Amino acid sequence: MDKRLRWFDEGAPKLRQVLGRLGLDDVLPAGQNFYACPCCLMAYPREAVQADLLTVEDVPPKSVGGRPLLLTCKQCNNTAGSVFDSHAATRAETEDFMRGRITGRPLPMTSHVDGIPLRGTARWTDSGVQIFGIPKQNDPKVQAAHFEALDAYVESGNPQPNHSFTIHTRFDETRARISWIRAAYLAAFAALGWSYIFRGVMDPYRKQLQQPDVSVVPTHILRDPNASPERRRLLLVDRPDELRSVAVVMGEHTVFLPSLFRPMACDELVEAFVSRRASDERLSVNLDGKEVLWPRWATYFLD
Ligand SMILES: [Zn+2]
Repeated sequence: MDKRLRWFDEGAPKLRQVLGRLGLDDVLPAGQNFYACPCCLMAYPREAVQADLLTVEDVPPKSVGGRPLLLTCKQCNNTAGSVFDSHAATRAETEDFMRGRITGRPLPMTSHVDGIPLRGTARWTDSGVQIFGIPKQNDPKVQAAHFEALDAYVESGNPQPNHSFTIHTRFDETRARISWIRAAYLAAFAALGWSYIFRGVMDPYRKQLQQPDVSVVPTHILRDPNASPERRRLLLVDRPDELRSVAVVMGEHTVFLPSLFRPMACDELVEAFVSRRASDERLSVNLDGKEVLWPRWATYFLD
């Protein structure tokens, strides 16, 4: 059976059940199953899977190492790809380069030797940064002069050649952040279910996805550049009490979402983290709570 239909059949009855518990039975027509996109809450019947209106979403985005996890609607999925996830991917590529990581991915750059420019790409290899000129972007004479000057420096053994290069990548920091917040929201939904995202404190997160250029949720994100990109954890933080939250760990990013119990609004949560951080830089090691298995598909733990 199509994985998407299976996911629909697992999520739809849970949705009806949770709506029933909330006294909202009448928001969905009777006699038929519906699955709601967790990002926009638009409800879709089962036929929407075959019509490709409900699509497989990777969490975190595939471009930063994610895997297929759940269904979102085609519109939310496509919009996120271009509006948020492309920025997270470019930011990751840029940071990998700055940290000297060998990823095999060349980045666009301009190199200068003695002021002679060369447009092309750069990437890290075992022996250092490798630079390639792109013939279409360079005057052949200037390109030849550039490499000649470079060779001359290598031969002279001058330890300080007049050589520099500039990487040309563009990303929007706010949008890259929202991409990670969105991934955390979806991972928490897959693990915890409809009961979690229907809480009032989660409304601003969906609002944020509709407003890419405004910071609606001042969500706290902790970053650990030394963490393995494959790291995945979901922690229901209950100690210290003022930092109670759902911590979603994906590679070097840890996103803190509202707790299951006595949840604080997102800005309260951020304030608690900021004041705590001022007195203790090693915040991450002091978090304690219940570990939830990272979902391989939506498990709706609370529903
Ligand atoms: Zn949607």
